[in-house]
Amino acid sequence: MDMNDNKRRRSMLLYILIAIVAYLMISQTIYPNLRATQVQKVDYSQFVEMVEKDEVTQATSIYGNPEVTFTTGEGDSQKFYETVLYYGTEESTAQLLEEHDVQMVSEIQDTSGDLWLMLLISYGLPILVFLGIGWWLNRRMKKAMGDDGPSMNFGGGFGGGGLGKSNAKEIKGEETGVTFKDVAGQDEAKESLQEIVSFLKNPDKYTEIGARCPRGALLVGPPGTGKTLLAKAVAGEAGVTFFQIAGSAFVEMFVGRGAAKVRDLFKQANEKAPCIIFIDEIDAVGKRRDTSLSSNDEREQTLNQLLSEMDGFDNHKGIVVLAATNRPETLDQALLRPGRFDRRIPVELPDLAGREAILKIHADDVKMEPGIDLGVIARSTPGASGADLANIINEAALRAVRFGRRRVTQEDLLESVDVVIAGEKKKSTVLSPHEKEVVSYHETGHAIVAAMQKGSAPVSKITIVPRTSGALGFTMQVEEDEHFLTTRQEAKDKIAVLCGGRAAEELIFGEMTTGASNDIEKATQLARAMVTQYGMSDKFGMVQLGQPASRYLGGGSQLTCSEGTAQEIDAEVQALVEEGHQNALRTLRENRFKLHEIAHYLQKKETITGEEFMNILTRDDGFAPKMPTPAE
Ligand code: ADP
Ligand code: MG
Ligand code: ZN
Repeated sequence: MDMNDNKRRRSMLLYILIAIVAYLMISQTIYPNLRATQVQKVDYSQFVEMVEKDEVTQATSIYGNPEVTFTTGEGDSQKFYETVLYYGTEESTAQLLEEHDVQMVSEIQDTSGDLWLMLLISYGLPILVFLGIGWWLNRRMKKAMGDDGPSMNFGGGFGGGGLGKSNAKEIKGEETGVTFKDVAGQDEAKESLQEIVSFLKNPDKYTEIGARCPRGALLVGPPGTGKTLLAKAVAGEAGVTFFQIAGSAFVEMFVGRGAAKVRDLFKQANEKAPCIIFIDEIDAVGKRRDTSLSSNDEREQTLNQLLSEMDGFDNHKGIVVLAATNRPETLDQALLRPGRFDRRIPVELPDLAGREAILKIHADDVKMEPGIDLGVIARSTPGASGADLANIINEAALRAVRFGRRRVTQEDLLESVDVVIAGEKKKSTVLSPHEKEVVSYHETGHAIVAAMQKGSAPVSKITIVPRTSGALGFTMQVEEDEHFLTTRQEAKDKIAVLCGGRAAEELIFGEMTTGASNDIEKATQLARAMVTQYGMSDKFGMVQLGQPASRYLGGGSQLTCSEGTAQEIDAEVQALVEEGHQNALRTLRENRFKLHEIAHYLQKKETITGEEFMNILTRDDGFAPKMPTPAE
């Protein structure tokens, strides 16, 4: 709706502009001499020329306004002129005027000379009337449309900013009424943002102690997960002004306007501080600067301006810049440096509990039959985003209306799941119950093999919520402390863990799926490196057989050996991976019951912590495995 709103407002302004132009044309024909005899417009270079010829006697400028009125001659032969300073020449112009002994007059806004009064009456008044009408129409239109929350209009671009500053409009966050309560789930994101809220509420407390305050945070996550919503909620929670602009809006402007707009935005923010500046889709401006040959100068300028503003603004006042993106990897590294968007807040797709909570929030807005079970809906929509879920509720309400009902029924909801999900199947990954089961066993397989290895890092999280990366789930292992050397045994264990997913599928379903492709790739790479680079195979020993192709691009390796050896290497690699595979199969066979139990639990909960996992695995119910003693 923001877009629409903006467009409408822009066309509204266009009408007004046309009206003004029409008026000017008419007035010029009615009293054609009024203006011409009074003030003649000249362009800047002409003005400079006249000064240099010592024709100019007096120059008047209004503080902060690039227009200069000046006169030539004296007494009866006095003539009035007007010009607009060329951008950036204020200082040099002043110098020039001084050199030529021009009387320099400086005024503060609304001077009332005869001339100005006349101009005001003949032009200003009607313009005001037109603007008034326009504003009134605009408001009516917006009311009719239902105002759609804060949207910032930078439409001032037309006419090259003839109206001076951008006619930015901002609404207090509070007025949107969005708070953290309106954002379901996303507890981790909210927690990270809480600090920003308390900083905005009380910037002094932070500066007093000398703490470096957060300047910017990057909300990273797939579309529709509530990034915009969260940013608004931060403003709402802190009760501060919320400035919103889309990254693309910076770029689509006339050349040179993007950087100016950034400057403008921060200037406005500075006046309204404490406040939040929210830059949506920052990847539109913040793309890495060096990647493509056809560099976009405009975008680069804008980005540079943004960077320098972020470094420059006075943070004691409490300005926080939030930005959202779903493609963090494309961002320019300079944006992520300390003091800029150094905080990264992941906003992930909701899990089962999150989905139910989101459904509940949106269900509160529509009338429902008693006894509706939102849990069923949540369970049937793994992989759906918050926006999808909001849409499901809305579709259900529409369906109820279509059938002439006054309340939404369970059936409406179920039907709308199909509508929304089927319509979105390409966009978001929604697993069928069977797929979900397979993924659960697959991930549990990884986790159990990992837990049963001596040197493996502990499992910290298992999830089957699909990621934007395309992964259908993952098992996260976090090393207790950093280490830089990997032993041969650890490498072998790692391969076994990577094989654990496929092994579980084979064991339970007796079939293979494509879900293991990434595991296979990693396991093979590791095995190959063991043989060709790390000298870890019995057969070849400490001979370098390959070279890393590119250390930085993370490419594979290039073989530096004869063809015959290459074949043997392949066999060796195969043997290493197969060994891991067999190990994984054995481990899982021995812990079959735990595998079932944990996989079922995971399927139900979608995300489980390492702790929950270990609790079930080691619970003494007769099936608990003998755990290996932790590695030294
Ligand atoms: P993003 O900016 O990440 O693309 P939005 O913040 O624009 O997503 O979310 C779109 C809509 O989806 C929101 O207006 C809201 O109605 C709904 N929504 C998304 N996530 C949540 C959530 N966690 N809780 C409640 N509603 C949500
Ligand atoms: Mg958004
Ligand atoms: Zn896997």
